[in-house]
Amino acid sequence: MNLSDYGNVLENISLKDYNTFKINSLVKDLIIVNDENKLAELIKNLDQYFIIGNGSNIILYNDHYDYPFIKLDFKDIKVFDDNTVYVGASVLPIVLIHELYKYGLGGLEWASGIPGTMGGMVYGNAGAYNEEIKDFIKSIKVLDKETYEISEMGVEEARFSYRDSIFKENKKYIILGVTLLLKEINIESSKELIQDRLNRRLASQPLEYPSAGSVFRNPENDFAGRLIEDNGFKGYHVNDAYVSEKHANFIVNKGNATGYDIINLINDIKAKVKSENNVDLILEQEIIK
Ligand SMILES: Cc1cc2nc3c(=O)[nH]c(=O)nc-3n(C[C@H](O)[C@H](O)[C@H](O)COP(=O)(O)OP(=O)(O)OC[C@H]3O[C@@H](n4cnc5c(N)ncnc54)[C@H](O)[C@@H]3O)c2cc1C
Repeated sequence: MNLSDYGNVLENISLKDYNTFKINSLVKDLIIVNDENKLAELIKNLDQYFIIGNGSNIILYNDHYDYPFIKLDFKDIKVFDDNTVYVGASVLPIVLIHELYKYGLGGLEWASGIPGTMGGMVYGNAGAYNEEIKDFIKSIKVLDKETYEISEMGVEEARFSYRDSIFKENKKYIILGVTLLLKEINIESSKELIQDRLNRRLASQPLEYPSAGSVFRNPENDFAGRLIEDNGFKGYHVNDAYVSEKHANFIVNKGNATGYDIINLINDIKAKVKSENNVDLILEQEIIK
């Protein structure tokens, strides 16, 4: 099989620029695909593969991956008269927000600081400031990994809940794009809201270092960051993987942290929080083996 029949293939490359933790794992083939039918054909011919979005919620555990990583290049944005917008899976929220200003549409200001793709956001029902992507979704265009059929899925079927969905549960689908229902907005107010959200993030999150966002989900009626901080972990590290001094629910890479370092640090935190607080912290980030 010739992988280059399906997309642009980068061979034996570092994934450092493809994950926000900046982990320097190598992959044998990274295939960039911009055609839905070719994607269906490609996965038909592969036993194992990984769909990578913007790599902002993953921990690359292996030094080297022998199976291919597939990066989608679906960047369509189509606006319809009824304030619905079709967005390709590879579009970043900040890019979408700016594009929609041309049409006076918005509502996704809360997502402006999320460095993921629409596909990744739908997969994990991304959210911030009490908003979640699920509340804006009309339908999702999916490719079934078993039948290789492309179809439109309704919101109910996607079974969204806090940072969860059918996509995360059974991994049966590739998200190709999503149709969102947005609202008419005042652009100046929208820009102010985005600036406010950015200021809040800059004040509370260690954006100066590579990370993959919050490490653990917040336990019910509590904050993972509080539990981690109270157990004295701020500044604690395994090699170059550090618990941030600014926000204890962030692990940052201060140099050449590997996935192995990050996971050892996570295990130390989980063990202490379990023994001291009897809380089982649940990882929000995904370990890729
Ligand atoms: C600084 C920072 C701040 C963050 N803030 C937030 C926040 O406020 N709220 C929040 O919810 N998250 C936040 N995150 C986490 C992250 O950005 C989101 O979870 C984001 O939605 C992940 O998207 P991605 O494209 O990077 O996915 P990736 O990390 O590339 O992949 C994550 C998972 O999604 C799957 N996936 C990706 N695309 C597709 C697709 N098209 N079809 C099927 N599966 C797919 C991958 O296979 C993988 O299993 C933050 C991260 C960082 C680094």
